[in-house]
Amino acid sequence: MYASPVAAAGRIYITDLDGKTDVVGSGEAGKYLAWTLAKQGRRTALVERKMIGGSCPNVACLPSKNVIHSAKVASLAARAAEFGLVGGPSV
Ligand SMILES: Cc1cc2nc3c(=O)[nH]c(=O)nc-3n(C[C@H](O)[C@H](O)[C@H](O)COP(=O)(O)OP(=O)(O)OC[C@H]3O[C@@H](n4cnc5c(N)ncnc54)[C@H](O)[C@@H]3O)c2cc1C
Repeated sequence: MYASPVAAAGRIYITDLDGKTDVVGSGEAGKYLAWTLAKQGRRTALVERKMIGGSCPNVACLPSKNVIHSAKVASLAARAAEFGLVGGPSV
């Protein structure tokens, strides 16, 4: 479901000063890169200015799936009579 860090790598910035690696952006790409660098024993900082976790969990993948699911449920509810269901609040 998630974008690969390779595909997303164009949006992250890395600086390596004083033996510490700063990864800018905590999206899919940045968090995977920071995790990989830290796992290799490098001193690593993950810097985020706005949305921890990046776009996917905050404004993109997950919220969009919620909206799509809600729309499907609303659409089915509006057709309830076709399935033999009557009554209840209108949608
Ligand atoms: C509506 C929608 C639905 C999607 N659904 C899917 C899906 O189902 N599956 C899928 O694989 N992909 C999906 N995507 C794509 C997915 O969201 C992106 O591919 C992914 O988020 C890219 O990750 P990224 O790390 O490159 O960038 P981002 O997630 O955008 O992360 C970049 C981060 O860097 C931060 N940043 C930027 N500049 C700075 C700075 N100067 N200092 C500090 N922080 C900074 C930003 O605040 C942000 O948090 C969807 C996208 C959209 C728009």
